[in-house]
Formats: sequence, C-alpha cells, structure tokens
Amino acid sequence: MTVFSAQSFAHHDEVTFVHDARTGLKAIIAIHDTTLGPALGGCRMWPYESDGQALDDVLRLSRGMTYKAAMAGLNFGGGKSVVIGDSRADKSEALLRRFGRFVDTFQGRYIVAEDVGMSVGDMDIVRQETPYVAGVGGGAGDPSPATAWGVYHGIRAAVRHRFQRHDLSGVTVAVQGLGHVGGHLCAHLANDGANLIVADIDDEAIASVREEFGAAVVSCDGIYECDAEVFAPCALGAVLNDQTIPRLQARVVAGSANNQLAEARHGKALADIGVLYAPDYVINAGGLIHVSYEVAYRGGHFDHDVAMAHVARLHDRLLDLFTRAEAEAIPTNTMADRIAWERLEQVRAARGRRGEGYGRSMALTP
Ligand code: NAD
Repeated sequence: MTVFSAQSFAHHDEVTFVHDARTGLKAIIAIHDTTLGPALGGCRMWPYESDGQALDDVLRLSRGMTYKAAMAGLNFGGGKSVVIGDSRADKSEALLRRFGRFVDTFQGRYIVAEDVGMSVGDMDIVRQETPYVAGVGGGAGDPSPATAWGVYHGIRAAVRHRFQRHDLSGVTVAVQGLGHVGGHLCAHLANDGANLIVADIDDEAIASVREEFGAAVVSCDGIYECDAEVFAPCALGAVLNDQTIPRLQARVVAGSANNQLAEARHGKALADIGVLYAPDYVINAGGLIHVSYEVAYRGGHFDHDVAMAHVARLHDRLLDLFTRAEAEAIPTNTMADRIAWERLEQVRAARGRRGEGYGRSMALTP
C-alpha cells in the first residue's frame, strides 16, 4: 500500500490511522486543509476490500470537502474519516465510542458528522466520547432534506440559465435514485409543477414516488436517454462517462450524487455538446451548509430556518458560476475548482504564509 506517493495524497495536512483490537475499530481520519477553519466532514463505514481502497477513498473525499466548504462560503476546512467494516454486522457501541476517542485526539481540528453507513443515532454515541461531532439528534440531524433543498434550488438556477425559465412548471426532470435525497427532491419538484421520470433498483421506492407524484418510470439504463430537460443523478458516482454522455437527451445535468464525472475531462465533454452541468460538490453542499450551523453555533440555538435559507442561496451561487464559466468559455467544473481555489489562496495570502491553517480565535472549544 502506498501512502505519500498515492495519487490522491494531494497536499493533505494530516492523515492518521487507528487500529484497536479490543473493539475491532480500524479507521482513518484525513485532514486535507484547514485554511478556512476546522476540518468538517462525515465518517463513512464501508467494507473496503483493501486498506489501500479505504485510504484512497478517505483522501479523495477529504480533498473534496475542502472545495465544497470553500465554494459554499463556509469557514470550515476539508476532512473526512472512514471506518473499515460492514455497518450492519460490525458496528457496536464500543466501536463507536472508541472512534469518538479517536476523533477527540484532534481536539477540534477535525469535526465528524454522519455519512454512508453511519446514522444520527451513531453520532449520538460518538458524542458521548467527544464534543467534536455534528449532525446529532436535537441538532442538524439527517443532512438529506437540506441536500435535496439545495439540489432543488440548483436545478432552478440551471433551468433559468439554460432555458431562461423562471419556474419548473411543465419542465421534465429525470431523477436517477429515489433514496434519502432523491425522494425529498421529487417532492419539491412535483410541488413546483415539474413532470417526473424516475428510475431506481428498488421497486418500493419507485412505487411510492409513482403513487405520490404520478412519476413516469423507466429502467435504470433507460434514464440516460429519456425525453427530459433535466437529468438529476441522485444515486451513484461516475455516471457521466464516455458511454452515457452521448446518450443524454437532457440539456441540464444537476443532481446530488458525489463524483458524477468519471474523469474531469467529462466536464468538457458535456460542455462541448451543450449540456449545462451543475458541479456536484457545489449543488450538493446543502447538507454540509446545514450541519455547519450546528457547529458554528454550538452551545447556542440551532436555527433550522436560517440554515435552510443559506442552503437556498446555492441558487445564486450556481447562477454566478454558470455566468462566469460561459463568459470565460470554460467548463463549469473547471470554473468551480477555480473559484474555490481562489478563495483559499486569498485567505492564505491574507495570513501572509501558505498553509498556516485557521486562526487561533477560530479553534472550537467544547
Ligand atoms: P441513498 O442510499 O439513500 O439513495 C440512493 C438510491 O439510489 C437508493 O434508492 C438506491 O436504490 C438507488 N440506486 C442504486 N443504484 C442505482 C442505479 N443503478 N440506478 C438507479 N438507482 C439506483 O443515498 P442518498 O443519501 O439519497 O444519496 C444519494 C447520492 O447523493 C449519493 O451519491 C450520495 O453520496 C450523494 N450525497 C448525499 C448527501 C446526503 O445528504 N444524503 C449529501 C451529498 C451527496
């Protein structure tokens, strides 16, 4: 297994491993960048086939969090953690508490929240061992409704930019994946009068959306070329690739899935055929924005409405991004990376020294 020479090991501040034989915990915490503030990012529990795969995932995800927070205008850095194991079979109170002790050793430089394989209830247990945890019960909780709210506003922005339409009435949206985010998204879209075409591998999820919103159903493969203005990937990564892009009928791609582009060059491939792509880490930042309010106002009152109003501003952030990308004739994913990087560089320049990390006054106290 390679660490420092791994391709995904790109300017990470710190990567720490823990193996605890008594509880069975095997975990990695990766802090990518703390220029803007303490690293905030979820913990993913997954039965990785190898340690190398787990390392690669945590490095890639933590780097993504730096860009996501920077683009969302948050004062948080990028970090992420992974626990190696099957969340249905290997999770125990002892393991979660031991993981909490691990998080606590960072003394607030890393703040954990839930991600795939972790729940609000799990974060409540982690909270017993460290105050550096967000997304707990009574706080922000499940991030999915906020993520869906942001994606909905992102779709509105994209439709406005591409079709000069100020509402979604009569606009057809093809939603791939009807899980935590996709389900909420369908409700917002239907509420606005959009027509829905949906696909999922889960028949129950399909039945409920068809019944509730009168959605048309297509096969998981057919969703790419169905007759829709918007394609909203809300299931898997790498769905925009050499095979799928030529099949797309939609002129807008805007959805919640992480890492939608198989490779960065696919952002250009979309732009070349006139498809407006809402960069994934910009449009799906709603959950992060929402949970950041719990952290920023810890000890105080968590105001869900204020947090959701911030999430809705993703509409304007994306409109601005689309306009700048068009003016400079560059793909939207390239523009997003540039805006995020510029913000990081400006803050570093203000401190006079590269990579110094966030100011002392911003360190979180329990
Ligand atoms: P989820 O697991 O609840 O839902 C995913 C859905 O996709 C499930 O219903 C599943 O059956 C379906 N699916 C799986 N394979 C499919 C296929 N081949 N075709 C069609 N459907 C398929 O996950 P979620 O929390 O709704 O997240 C969806 C995506 O958004 C993921 O990529 C996730 O990483 C990303 N995301 C989620 C959040 C959040 O707040 N939950 C935040 C940011 C990004």
